Amino acid sequence: MSGARLAVVGAGVAGAMAAHELRAQGHHVTVFEANDWIGGRARTVRRNGFMFDTGAVGLLGSYDLTKTVAESVGMGDQVLTIKPIGSVPRDGRLRQLDMGHPLRSFLKTDLLSFRSKLKLWKVAADARKLSSAMDYEQVASLVEHDTESVRDYSLRELNEELYQYLTGTLVRGAWLAPPEGASVAQFFWTAKHFTPHMYSLVGGMDSLPTRLLEGSEVRLNTAVANVERSDAGVVVTYGGDMGEQTDVFDGCVIAAPPRNALELYPQLQGPQRRFFESAEYSQSVNVHLGLSRATAHPEMYVMVPERECADVTTIFLDHHKAPDRAPAGKGIISVFMRAGWCADNWETPDDRVISQVVEHLRPWFGDLEPLLEDVLVQRWENCALMVKPGAFRLMAEADRAVDPNDPVQFAGDYAPFSSVNTSILSGRKAASRLNGSLSGRLGAHAAVAL
Ligand SMILES: Cc1cc2nc3c(=O)[nH]c(=O)nc-3n(C[C@H](O)[C@H](O)[C@H](O)COP(=O)(O)OP(=O)(O)OC[C@H]3O[C@@H](n4cnc5c(N)ncnc54)[C@H](O)[C@@H]3O)c2cc1C
Repeated sequence: MSGARLAVVGAGVAGAMAAHELRAQGHHVTVFEANDWIGGRARTVRRNGFMFDTGAVGLLGSYDLTKTVAESVGMGDQVLTIKPIGSVPRDGRLRQLDMGHPLRSFLKTDLLSFRSKLKLWKVAADARKLSSAMDYEQVASLVEHDTESVRDYSLRELNEELYQYLTGTLVRGAWLAPPEGASVAQFFWTAKHFTPHMYSLVGGMDSLPTRLLEGSEVRLNTAVANVERSDAGVVVTYGGDMGEQTDVFDGCVIAAPPRNALELYPQLQGPQRRFFESAEYSQSVNVHLGLSRATAHPEMYVMVPERECADVTTIFLDHHKAPDRAPAGKGIISVFMRAGWCADNWETPDDRVISQVVEHLRPWFGDLEPLLEDVLVQRWENCALMVKPGAFRLMAEADRAVDPNDPVQFAGDYAPFSSVNTSILSGRKAASRLNGSLSGRLGAHAAVAL
């Protein structure tokens, strides 16, 4: 092969995308992955007939790039369009909402009072005004709208009821983040991208990164301890069955969350370092219940207002996502908890986590205990980036400071919001920069424009 020798750290979505693009340009790519699975936080666990997506749950309708990439690798027929029927509980009863028609749905629902419905025009007007700034492609446009928290915006422009049952619920439901600390830009971004439909992936959420890495050399259970630029190239030190080893590459994409990236690449300086140091991720302890019988609920998901249940933020009924998630007639309910609860229960034994969660679901789902066939508890140290007011300034500065000629490039889900689509986009951009930089350093034969 005439291409360069390149390393990718991390076999999550971002690393898989970067590796796929670089391999397509004729480079030899070695992917190092600390875990024993491909997909990172897009993880699917298959057991006892159930398919549990224990990280990324689904794809939003705005993930055009992800859909295009899936189609380009022959997975077009695995991308299912699903109706975003959700519900929000109030006073113990689930109120259904069709997020395909959010305004109509919120105007018709008995979730909100008449007074609050009158204020929806303000939300709709602000959402329309900010729509073009709520972009995946660049973070600079978000800076000027990132001035206050969701709670402050809601109480200033709307009212407590709309904060409890709309703005705050959407942010904590989508990001598990406390809305009192989240940037209002996160609400408007989510409101725009949550409609008009969703996608799911037949075969599991890990099927896309797995397909992207087909043909690549992937070393699982191989944690990278250090990446260093030197005159010889990019020196990668990694562990594994054979003990610690070192190899020199022509370039590297570090596709690991910011804290991991900083640990293994201490040479990083400037605005990128400052942003990575500031990047705070929520933890998640999420629970997946495999049921002997699907419950009668038609909704895909439930977003839970803090007032209705402080600890549960989101419930997903995975059996509605695709026919392969559970055997016929059986069901999966996935439960996501608020970040603070997850931090407090990080060490709590699984059986106690499960009993707390099942108890929390009782008002809306009844007694699930007799239906439990299989239960899985997943803990994520880095779940989603917590975007506090002011975060986009640092993010935009980091973005501007990226040196396209650097042989070490970064990819991940940290700008602007943690999602599969963000990681796909960022993996592709990192690969493009690295490929471009190789033409200068190694000669035009080694790099082809992406
Ligand atoms: C509970 C949960 C629910 C979510 N729901 C959704 C959703 O519905 N839709 C959506 O779009 N997104 C969702 N997300 C977010 C989405 O999963 C992530 O944004 C995306 O998968 C991140 O991909 P990534 O490749 O950037 O990072 P990761 O998936 O974290 O991949 C990084 C990889 O790097 C590896 N690594 C780290 N350090 C090293 C090292 N030193 N050496 C070797 N390997 C290393 C890690 O093991 C990991 O596999 C969810 C996330 C979680 C946790």
